[in-house]
Amino acid sequence: MIYLDNAATTRVFDCAISAAEKAMSVDFYNPNSTYGCGVAAKNNIDRSRRKIADIVGAQPNEIVFTSGATESNNWVFECGRKNPKGNIVISAGEHASVYECAMRLKSRGIEVRVVPLTRDGTVDINAFERAVDGETTLVSIIHVSNETGAVNPLKELVAIAKKRAPRALFHSDGVQSLLKIGVPIGSLGCDFYSASAHKLGAPKGVGFLYIRSGVNIQPFLRGGGQEGGLRSGTQNTPYIAAFASALEHFDTIANKANVTEMRSYLHDRFVSHGYIPIGALDRSSAYILCVQIPQVKAEVLQNALYDKGIVIGKGAACSGTKRGNRVLSAMGLSDAQAECCIRISLFADTKREDIVSASNIIIETAEKIRSNHVG
Ligand code: PMP
Repeated sequence: MIYLDNAATTRVFDCAISAAEKAMSVDFYNPNSTYGCGVAAKNNIDRSRRKIADIVGAQPNEIVFTSGATESNNWVFECGRKNPKGNIVISAGEHASVYECAMRLKSRGIEVRVVPLTRDGTVDINAFERAVDGETTLVSIIHVSNETGAVNPLKELVAIAKKRAPRALFHSDGVQSLLKIGVPIGSLGCDFYSASAHKLGAPKGVGFLYIRSGVNIQPFLRGGGQEGGLRSGTQNTPYIAAFASALEHFDTIANKANVTEMRSYLHDRFVSHGYIPIGALDRSSAYILCVQIPQVKAEVLQNALYDKGIVIGKGAACSGTKRGNRVLSAMGLSDAQAECCIRISLFADTKREDIVSASNIIIETAEKIRSNHVG
């Protein structure tokens, strides 16, 4: 099978599986117990925290482990505002786990300002500047779009927001950008940054919320006071160990230049067949390519390719059951055009020869579907 839906989830690296196995068998103790082996389990968590913080460009005390980015994003919206009134600014390109939280606050009477996207899928900077004002309490802008790979100029957006609303807190969903864009979190100026392990060669069900030193947030989950009182619940020691191990090995396993080259190859082949890339190549992640194949429904193509051993994405994995595509439509695509968009996403273990054969089969299958459709 050639797996090209890595923005949905990735294979777990062998090193991460070994790390999880060790934490489940040898080091299985409760990290919150005060006897020796419990303390050792807690030390393992803190070692993982230091390793992860170092790799992602943060301080260890700024990393709070969660069950993944959905929890991290919900946490910020439920507990991250200093002032319960005021307005919230998000973009039209947010993942459902941010968008739905914002809509829930809207239903409770909070003003939510949704900044439009430009044709390339990035946030419209002028509209963003107009949306943020002295009453803004929270800004949340996705770093890299999970749908199109569009990269938002986060540092610039943070600078604008901090100038126009000095007291507002700035959150970014960094799930598709962490390590793949290679910007240290601490250099972005964000107050909060959400991450998920299963997009980076580690298991599903673990992630973190980066909380910049000095920024306060109330706990979302209350109970035993783990994670410095910020996130109760016995920590997922095996997956935290796996997360640290995957990140530690990411740069040796992932060859960014190869990924970039493979995506350019796919892009050029698709363009030469008249397919329409969504977004701008120089303002998008090397790991994601979204392309519209006129008259070929993504769902039909996805199923036909699956039968031939190729797995591709269409729209977001998390919103796969909903009709239409909110993000593509915010970029100006009609529903009919969005229905013809496929998402190919690469990872560290994607092979050049697989990309060559997958592109041949994708084009051949799409052309067959199109000729049946037209004929
Ligand atoms: N944000 C983005 C941009 C994502 O791609 C995803 C995963 N589809 C999430 C948040 C949710 O992450 P998790 O699966 O860890 O809850």
